[in-house]
Amino acid sequence: MPDSRSSPDRRILDLPDEQLLRLIGRIARKNGSRSFLVGGPVRDALLGRSGPDIDIAVESSPDRIGRALARRFNGRFVYHRRFLTGTVTLADRSHIDIARTRTETYRRPAALPSVKPAPVEEDLVRRDFTINALALELTHGSYGVVVDPHSGRRDLADRVVRVLHSRSFADDPTRAFRAIRFAIRLGFEIEAETLRLMRQAIRSGILSRLSAERVLYELRLISAEPLVLRMVEALLREKLLHASLDWQPRPRFLPRLQRLVAAGADPELVFIFLMTGLPGFDRVPVTAAERDAALAVRGFGDVRERLRRASRPSTIHRLLRQLPTEALGILSATESDPVVDRIRLYLDRLADVRISVDGRQLRSLGLKPGPKYREILDRILAARLDGKVTTRSQELALARELTAGTGRKSR
Ligand code: ATP
Repeated sequence: MPDSRSSPDRRILDLPDEQLLRLIGRIARKNGSRSFLVGGPVRDALLGRSGPDIDIAVESSPDRIGRALARRFNGRFVYHRRFLTGTVTLADRSHIDIARTRTETYRRPAALPSVKPAPVEEDLVRRDFTINALALELTHGSYGVVVDPHSGRRDLADRVVRVLHSRSFADDPTRAFRAIRFAIRLGFEIEAETLRLMRQAIRSGILSRLSAERVLYELRLISAEPLVLRMVEALLREKLLHASLDWQPRPRFLPRLQRLVAAGADPELVFIFLMTGLPGFDRVPVTAAERDAALAVRGFGDVRERLRRASRPSTIHRLLRQLPTEALGILSATESDPVVDRIRLYLDRLADVRISVDGRQLRSLGLKPGPKYREILDRILAARLDGKVTTRSQELALARELTAGTGRKSR
C-alpha cells in the first residue's frame, strides 16, 4: 500500500476557504486537538471542483472547538453529544460541520451503527468509498498533508467509485444509492468488483430492511442533483427503488421525469414526482404537503380527460382549484400540450381571480346562511371567470338574481 500520509499536496489549489481552514487548525490546536478537512470537500478539492461545504473532523474536544469557532465568528454552535457531531452556523448562515473522529460498528446489517472515538485513520475506515475516505490535515506545521490510507487519490485519478471492503453494502445498503449518485455526478465508473457487490446486495433482499426514512433521504439528495434523470434511470436499471421501497414506476414515468427536469423544476418538485411511484404513503416520512401533492399527481388521470375537453375558464378553474400548487407545478411540465395550456391559463390568469361579493352581501339580501352561500358565490365567480360579469355592480345584480326566491329568510 502506498504511504497513507504525504507531504503537503501542492495540487490542492481549490480549497473552499484557505484562511478559514488555517484558522480552524489553530483553534483546534489551542484546544489540544489535530484537525482535518474530511470526506467530500477533500475529494472535490483534489478534483478542482470545490463547493461551499466544510466538514471538519477533530481528534478531541469537538464541543470546545465548536464553541470557540462560534465565538470567533459571532455564530451559533449546536452539539449532538450522542453522535459526537456539531454544527457552527456563521452570521452569513453558512455552516461548518465538526465531528469527533470515530469508529462505527454495525451490530446488524442495514441498521444504524454504534459510534466510538478513534484516531483519524480509523475514522476513514468507516467511509463509503475510497474517494471519500480522504482527510487533509489543518494543524499548523502539518497543514495540507493528505491522509489517504485507501488510495483514494489513485481512484480519483482512475475515475472509479470503489468500496473499502466487501461487507460495505451489507453494512449500509444506502451506499448503493450513493455509489450511483457519485459515479454519475462525477462522470466516474463504479469499479467492477464494487458493482458486483452492489448487485449482490440488491439481489439478497437486504435493501428492504432499510427504513423508508433513510431511502427517502437518499432520494432527496438525488432530486437535488443536476443529473437526476440519469441517476434515476440507473436506480431503475439496478432495481434499487423496487428492492428498497417496492416502488413501481407510473406509466410513462421516465419521459415525464425528463420533461420535469428539462423545465428546470425545483428539487422539491422532482422529489414529489419520484414519490408518485410509492405504493403507500401511510408509513413514509414525507410532509403532508408532499404527500397531498404526490397523491394529486397520481390521481390526475381522473381529471385529465375532463380538462382536455374543457373550454370554459370556469370549468378549468373548477377542475384545478383543488390541486396543490406543487402538483400543478409538476403537471404543467409533465402533461401533454392541450392539458398544459389549460394548467398555465389557470396558473397565470384564473387562480387569482376574486369576486367582490361575499357572504355579507348575500346576508343583506336576506339569504338564510347555509350551503347555498358557497353555491351562489361559486356561480358568481364562474360568471366572472367566463366574462359574463365584469364589474362589481354586475356581480351584485347577479347575486340578487340568484338569491331571489332561493331560501330567503322569511321576514
Ligand atoms: P456531497 O458532495 O453530496 O455533499 P459528501 O461526500 O460531502 O457529498 P455527505 O453525504 O455530506 O457526502 O457525507 C460526508 C462524508 O461522510 C462522505 O464524504 C463520506 O465520507 C461519509 N459518509 C456519508 N454517508 C456515508 C455512508 N452511508 N457510509 C459511509 N460513509 C458515509
